[in-house]
Amino acid sequence: MEERQHDLVVIGAGPGGYVAAIRAAQLGLDTACIEKASALGGTCLRVGCIPSKALLEASHKYQEAVTGLKKYGVLVGEVSLDLARMMKHKDKTVTTLTRGVAGLFKKNGITGYKGLGRLAGPGVVEVDGDTPMRLKAKHILIATGSEVTSLPGIELDGDRIGTSTEALSYPEVPQHLVMIGAGVIGLELGSVWRRLGARVTVLEYQDRILPGMDAETAKLAQRMLKKQGLEFHLGARVTGARVEGDSCVVEAEGLEPIQCDLVLVAVGRKPNTEGLALEAVGLETDSRGRIAVDEHYATAVPGIYAIGDVIAGPMLAHKAEEEGIACVERIVTGYGHVNYDAIPSVVYTHPEIASVGKTEEELKEAGVAYNKGVFPFIANGRAKAVGETEGQAKILADATTDRVLGVHVIGAHAGDLIAEAAVAIEFGASSEDIARSSHAHPTLAEALKEAAFAVDDRAIHS
Ligand code: FAD
Ligand code: AMP
Repeated sequence: MEERQHDLVVIGAGPGGYVAAIRAAQLGLDTACIEKASALGGTCLRVGCIPSKALLEASHKYQEAVTGLKKYGVLVGEVSLDLARMMKHKDKTVTTLTRGVAGLFKKNGITGYKGLGRLAGPGVVEVDGDTPMRLKAKHILIATGSEVTSLPGIELDGDRIGTSTEALSYPEVPQHLVMIGAGVIGLELGSVWRRLGARVTVLEYQDRILPGMDAETAKLAQRMLKKQGLEFHLGARVTGARVEGDSCVVEAEGLEPIQCDLVLVAVGRKPNTEGLALEAVGLETDSRGRIAVDEHYATAVPGIYAIGDVIAGPMLAHKAEEEGIACVERIVTGYGHVNYDAIPSVVYTHPEIASVGKTEEELKEAGVAYNKGVFPFIANGRAKAVGETEGQAKILADATTDRVLGVHVIGAHAGDLIAEAAVAIEFGASSEDIARSSHAHPTLAEALKEAAFAVDDRAIHS
């Protein structure tokens, strides 16, 4: 087996791994990255963030054309759906971006290896691919991400009972789709297929949707999604799903068995350490399959680091990227840090739901006194002009210092609006800082400024 030497070997080319590799190369490390899939970019680019957003946008445009344009005085003729072309748009987006990562590797002089990366001792990784390799490196970064998961009693058949991966490529619009789990991924894909005409039933074990998100905001989201036709059954623990002839049957506690033609299991993802041979270096995973790291992403084995979905924390692409950058900067420069209080999270439904920092529930639980400012989109001039009046912006600020602790927005373009809030939290801003910052008029961002005014009960337009 051919043997090679690098300064850093990254295992996995998702947003965590490929970004870490680029930053390491910028910092002068001889860097290699191993990826087992045929394209670079990981879950996010291949079967996650990017294809889902391509379908969300395309299905939203379709739905607008069908029902939403009349109010603007735009009359269109008969609208029909060319699903194959919509999928082509999604696939082309993915291909362009994954090739883009390959281009970035080339530009930065990163050596790519195609195959399964396997730890073969401290400082050694073997590549199990067409050309087997033995790589020696002072630093090894595990960025193997996560995988889809299912529930006990539900066997994924990769066809009728599937996960987000299948739901990104259904060949036709299902008549009735049953979705298990009302988390981010489920609600996004459920929205896509609802917009394209499917009946969508959501079964959620908890008594609310979007567990972990700000409860008031999640409640508003549920109301809006219900209006769009998603059917919710909360407190419904799914115990089984099976294919029966031409259809599927889903069983949940407290409900009659539900017949449908497709099942989407969206109950979370599991860290991916399969085939890595952690045991070869004496590394273990925790009870949830994650690799334990310290605040500098170092594992228990000197020289081996881990970042992204394979370690604890929210499973988000930008969280993996930030960790990748912080990890290699720390290795090379001695500094590198991620502020976990300032990591935004976005649900790309319509309207979007975005948050950063603490929820009201977290603040209450921690006994932190806070002031709350809420501003409804309906009172925002731009929202009215563009016909996107659903939603609100909410700012939570420390009752004593006025420091912004959490921001939760539901409304059009919330995912873009939240960037301002993340910067505010990163800079330790007060709600007064946001209120005093000039916001262009008329913009949706003014809703945030008004929410900041509302913290002190002095919103202008409500
Ligand atoms: P991954 O992206 O999972 O990449 C890991 C890579 O490692 C993979 O390419 C895998 O093939 C490779 N690999 C694994 N083991 C080995 C091995 N032994 N050898 C070689 N290669 C290996 N996040 C967001 O922030 N925003 C979103 O809008 C969003 N939407 C999503 C939508 C869906 C449908 C899904 C499923 C996920 C979404 N996510 C989103 C989550 C996001 O995709 C992940 O948080 C992110 O991809 C994690 O990055 P990562 O680099 O840690 O791992
Ligand atoms: P997320 O972790 O954000 O992807 O969300 C997964 C969702 O699936 C959570 O809201 C869970 O409560 C939900 N869930 C997990 N197990 C079950 C189950 N057996 N039946 C219904 N919902 C479930």
